Amino acid sequence: MPYVVTRSCCADASCVLACPVNCIHPAPGEPGFGTAEMLYVDPRTCVDCGACTTACPVDALKPHTALAPAELPFLELNASYYRQNPHEDRAPMYVVPRQRALPAGELSVAVVGAGPAGLFAADELLRHPGVRVTVHDRLPTPYGLARAGVAPDHQDTKQVTELFGAIESQPGFGYRLGVEIGTDLSHADLLREHHAVIYAVGAATDRRLGIEGEDLPGSVSATDFVAWYNGHPDRAHDEHRLDTERAVVVGNGNVALDVARILTADPDDLARTDISDRALAALRTSRVREVVLLGRRGPAQAAFTVPELLALRALKNVDVTVDGWPEGLAADATEKTRLLAELAARTPVEGRRRIVLRFLTSPVRITGERAVQALEVTGTELHTDADGTVRARPSGGGTETLETGLVLRCVGYRARPVPGLPFDEDSGTVP
Ligand SMILES: Cc1cc2nc3c(=O)[nH]c(=O)nc-3n(C[C@H](O)[C@H](O)[C@H](O)COP(=O)(O)OP(=O)(O)OC[C@H]3O[C@@H](n4cnc5c(N)ncnc54)[C@H](O)[C@@H]3O)c2cc1C
Ligand code: SF4
Ligand code: SF4
Repeated sequence: MPYVVTRSCCADASCVLACPVNCIHPAPGEPGFGTAEMLYVDPRTCVDCGACTTACPVDALKPHTALAPAELPFLELNASYYRQNPHEDRAPMYVVPRQRALPAGELSVAVVGAGPAGLFAADELLRHPGVRVTVHDRLPTPYGLARAGVAPDHQDTKQVTELFGAIESQPGFGYRLGVEIGTDLSHADLLREHHAVIYAVGAATDRRLGIEGEDLPGSVSATDFVAWYNGHPDRAHDEHRLDTERAVVVGNGNVALDVARILTADPDDLARTDISDRALAALRTSRVREVVLLGRRGPAQAAFTVPELLALRALKNVDVTVDGWPEGLAADATEKTRLLAELAARTPVEGRRRIVLRFLTSPVRITGERAVQALEVTGTELHTDADGTVRARPSGGGTETLETGLVLRCVGYRARPVPGLPFDEDSGTVP
């Protein structure tokens, strides 16, 4: 009865050291750890002790007999990782984390940002005697995007907030909420009160498409839309145009999948989550029947992860279809293409809501008199750069018009500068 890692895994590796037989990989320091979509249990070496489950903050580890029907594909996904990455010679790991010592004496640290990064930084600091940490956030409630980003139908992922509760209860921990650094308090103010300041302000804004019509009503950033359905104080009172049969999401990462699921979900199912009351009421009267996700590149380059695609494939009462398969791409090239080819072969059921994963398509302009009425798109073709990166370029085949009243821009997140701190515009980071 091996244990299995499932969809909510965020690859933080908390379980790796808990496992007595070193059967969860890739582990920190191993090839592929930094880019892993999730970690995997080796079914041949797992001894079913259950130690990993207590270490996991999001309840991702389950005995295979406890998997829900929609989770069964994860059994094979875990096993196939070890067929592709054999490691017969791996010895049980006796890794002792590197001990970091702070100088003796009192230390007061200001952390800016009460999201996961800020709270884990506070946790690390509070392991040292004599340290006090004050976590600041511009919002009246903590937890950043773990509260206001993660989709309401992913309650297992939101369980990570229970871990934050344990961090908050440690001696030396304090909050100062509803205070924006750079506006209400400056960096210099913080340095007057504390020995050090840690910035963990996340990536709060979206990247723009840079096309005509992007600012028409009905063209919305996924950042704002997600904040709306999660009841974020900045966006909770927004109104969105759901009186349209088709919504188009530009981008195909995991956030794009979140948005597509929420737009096509049964409102009665959403009512059992922590979705905002206002968003739920609007979704109950929504006319959206089809959500099209556009990807400039092909299925093999889709930005969403395999665990999220498996969850999408398991949706009940929503058809998921695939449009745009590059000539010559073998269906079994990767696990992702295998799943997408399987979806492409499905026959849609008349009357169901539909999510269309459309590839090799790029947005050209958003059109409409006073609000979005359509999105013009064009086909692309793939080429490989000298450095081996597969990119898309227009194939020169003219444009196509997709009628829609709602375009959601979902092509990546970007940090905002904090007044008083240096900011590198190109990378969106503090240099
Ligand atoms: C839509 C969406 C869905 C996601 N779903 C998942 C998922 O299913 N699983 C998963 O593992 N991950 C998911 N993620 C990713 C996860 O939420 C982020 O990786 C994580 O929240 C990043 O943590 P952070 O602390 O760096 O930033 P954030 O969570 O963004 O926290 C930053 C905090 O800093 C505060 N802040 C910013 N500027 C200032 C300032 N000047 N002064 C004071 N406070 C400030 C903000 O208010 C915020 O609370 C999702 C992300 C998004 C956007
Ligand atoms: S059940 Fe035990 S042996 Fe199996 S993965 Fe978890 S910790 Fe390792
Ligand atoms: S502890 Fe849970 S979330 Fe973290 S890597 Fe392990 S299975 Fe994934």
